[in-house]
This record gives sequence, C-alpha cells and structure tokens, in this order.
Amino acid sequence: MVQYNFPVGMRYSTLDERKQFYSTEFKLGKAARWFGSESGKIKFAVIIGRHTKIYPEKYKGDASTTIIIDDYSNLEDVKGQIIEFLPEAVYYDRTVYDENDQKTGQELAFDLDPENITCPIHGTLADKMKRQQGLSFCELELGMVKQEAIHLYEFLGNRFSQVRAVYSGRGFHLHVLDQQAYALNAQERLDLAQQVKSAGFHIDEWVTSGEMRLIRLPYSLNGLVSRIVLPLTKGELESFDAVHDERCLPKFLSKKATF
Ligand SMILES: [Zn+2]
Repeated sequence: MVQYNFPVGMRYSTLDERKQFYSTEFKLGKAARWFGSESGKIKFAVIIGRHTKIYPEKYKGDASTTIIIDDYSNLEDVKGQIIEFLPEAVYYDRTVYDENDQKTGQELAFDLDPENITCPIHGTLADKMKRQQGLSFCELELGMVKQEAIHLYEFLGNRFSQVRAVYSGRGFHLHVLDQQAYALNAQERLDLAQQVKSAGFHIDEWVTSGEMRLIRLPYSLNGLVSRIVLPLTKGELESFDAVHDERCLPKFLSKKATF
C-alpha cells in the first residue's frame, strides 16, 4: 500500500495514541454543546481503519465499515464505545430525527479538501490519483484551501447568519446552523452546491447535497494526520496554522507533553 504524503509532522496515529487521546483528552460534552439546541438525539459513527489499515485485531472484519453508534444511554456511553473501537475517524449524522426516527431536517455543510486543489508542485487531483495519492496533500495546498474556506465563509455569510468553520484535520468544513438551512429540500441543497461550485469553490458536492450525511465530529481525533478537529471563528481561521497550532495538536504530539 502507498503511504500518503502529508505536511511535516502530520502522520497516522497509532492505536495506543488513539486510546490515550479518547481516554484522557477527548471532551464529547464540548462537541455536544457545539451542536446547539437543534440537534435532538444525535447519531454518531466511526470508521476504525479504512484508510490507515490500523485497527484492533478483533475488529479486522469491520475495519473499513462505517459503524453507526445510535444505541446509547448518554454521552459517557458513546465515549466508551469510541474507546472500544479506537477508530481512525469519528463522525456525526447531520440529519435530525424525531423520537420515531423520522427525518425532520438536516444540517447544511460544505466540505473543502486540499486534494481537490490544483497544486503548482503536485498537480491536479487526477495527477495525484494516478500516483495512488488521492488523499495526500502538502502545506501549500493546505494554505490554498484555507483561503477558500475564508472566502466561502464570507460567501455564505451573505445568506446565512450562523456559519461555523471547523478544521477537519486535512481541510475545512463550513456548517450552517440557521433554522432555515435545516429545512432546505434535496433540490435546494443541490442548487446551492452547484452555485458554490460555479463560484469557484472546490467543495465535495455529496456533502452539501445531503447524500453524504456524516461529517467529522468537532474535537475528535483525525487519525490519518494526528490532528484534533477544531472549531474556529472567522478571525481564528485567518491566522490558523494547522502544522504548528497547539490547539489542534493532541498531547501525544505536543511539545508540552511530559511523557
Ligand atoms: Zn502540493
């Protein structure tokens, strides 16, 4: 298997590091507060080892499966299940359900990933795919995708009042928490995705259209690059440096670590 190339310091997390992070550092309550009041009962999801091929031996058969966590009694219980699976990625379902598990709406989101950026050094996504490095990215691409995130934030800010930015570990997500955005139908989401794409943004259309319901959980660990998924204000986004910023460094990488 080809190892992906990442900016310096970014690398796969080991199982021990995932365990350390989720046992001692991860604050699921903070993530739950981030959703606000719109969320109701949240469905979570994990992928144990699809890209990294790193997984607990007993979950070998399910390493690439998306496992939904919707049967839980409280957040501690969810955290316990995450520590059991030790996943490379944790997500939540943007769809909002009522008590009968019927869909009542969906959070609107935009996903900007660095591999979609054409890099002066590494070329287009097609070039990278040819080298089997579709998930690789460099610091230059990360900087370019950050500029796109800032512009998309402004673009969406003209239409919505509650836009939130999140550093995903590789790229950036923009979440729209306005009531009216939860109520958009499939066609309206698709139209909006097309509009944003024709304005020149390299978004993943499946996320915005709603077909891809899952999105990375804020404050979880991106085990592909060993970075914490971090909500950022617009001002923080502008000065954000994913390679060095201590706030997105898990303790096992942080210079301040004492072990
Ligand atoms: Zn590059």
